[in-house]
Amino acid sequence: MNIVHIQEWFSEFGSGPVMIAGPCSAETEEQIQRTACSFNDSCKPSLFRAGIWKPRTRPNTFSGVGTKGLQWMKKVKEQTGMRVTVEAASPRHVEACLKMDIDVIWLGARTVSNPFSVQEIAESLRGQDIPVLVKNPLNPDIDLWIGAIERIYNAGIRKLAAVHRGFSPFERTSYRNMPKWEIPIELRRRIKEISVLCDPSHIAGDSFLVPELAQKAMDMNMDGLMVEVHYDPASALSDSNQQLSPAGYCEMMKNLVIRLSKPEDPGFLDYLEELRNQIDSVDHQLIELLARRLEIIDLIGEYKFKNNVAVLQMDRWLEILNTRLEQAGISGIDRNFTERYLKLMHQESIRRQTVIMQKLKEKKNGSADKSPDD
Ligand code: PEP
Ligand code: MN
Repeated sequence: MNIVHIQEWFSEFGSGPVMIAGPCSAETEEQIQRTACSFNDSCKPSLFRAGIWKPRTRPNTFSGVGTKGLQWMKKVKEQTGMRVTVEAASPRHVEACLKMDIDVIWLGARTVSNPFSVQEIAESLRGQDIPVLVKNPLNPDIDLWIGAIERIYNAGIRKLAAVHRGFSPFERTSYRNMPKWEIPIELRRRIKEISVLCDPSHIAGDSFLVPELAQKAMDMNMDGLMVEVHYDPASALSDSNQQLSPAGYCEMMKNLVIRLSKPEDPGFLDYLEELRNQIDSVDHQLIELLARRLEIIDLIGEYKFKNNVAVLQMDRWLEILNTRLEQAGISGIDRNFTERYLKLMHQESIRRQTVIMQKLKEKKNGSADKSPDD
């Protein structure tokens, strides 16, 4: 795909990560003004955000100020020099944003979850040059996320970036939305050119957790952040719990360690290369061992079939789980990781043995069906 990196969207964007900050929702002109003017030069974001139309989970909650908020955003742009971005969830929203010179639009998680809406928005963007940020869908479905990016791309938009905002959990976790970092990593593997930003506010759900998530995003080499900032978070009409104050945001920015996206020092590279060679060799051995283990499993499957013994042997499974967890613990391997690995391995063992037994059964039935004359 021929996608333009976010740093190249506007000439004033620098070579570092692109910062987007601003309130969850535009509430009043004063709130927008006060928040936008509260960033000092050292922490002024490149893009100022605010939701004008708010996709709320429940009805009868504040659902945004509507198009009049676009006027307030336009003023912010004129007064502060920051670029501005709002969420668009329909062709009507896109049209209003284009009319008011909004610099960037973003598609929210709920919209991205619905391919009909994304397609309609894509059609309304055809022939335009406005940059678009595509948040991940609510559920951890990477194809749905990629599909939304492709629909916008196919409408001719090349200034495209993705925003990782976490995924709805089934049960309560310490985060409002589960980060599942492996999904944005896989997105970068599948669409190499795409810039991926992180929205730590919607992952966290709590302003207290935002700085550590922002740092984690920088450690993962993400291309920027979208952070909710309100001049008075306690009075916010939406997502009050997760918004930072401008002072809190500036403090976070001051402490944020921006890693080098690629190592430069040749000495560092030599040692890294050596360690990577060691990893290559260990992985090679692990895969050979894995293949050996699976071969033994096939033999066990055959043996159980011949002796008419069930595939799942609970006592043996519990013994494996306990002994391996103990050994891994002594070796300093995380218990949760070991448990996930063992369960995956056990599932695969069961699957392979079931396949073997099924095949042997078919073979046996086949030969029993044959009459002596065949
Ligand atoms: C938002 O950014 O305020 C928002 C509604 O985000 P999301 O679509 O990620 O929930
Ligand atoms: Mn929000």
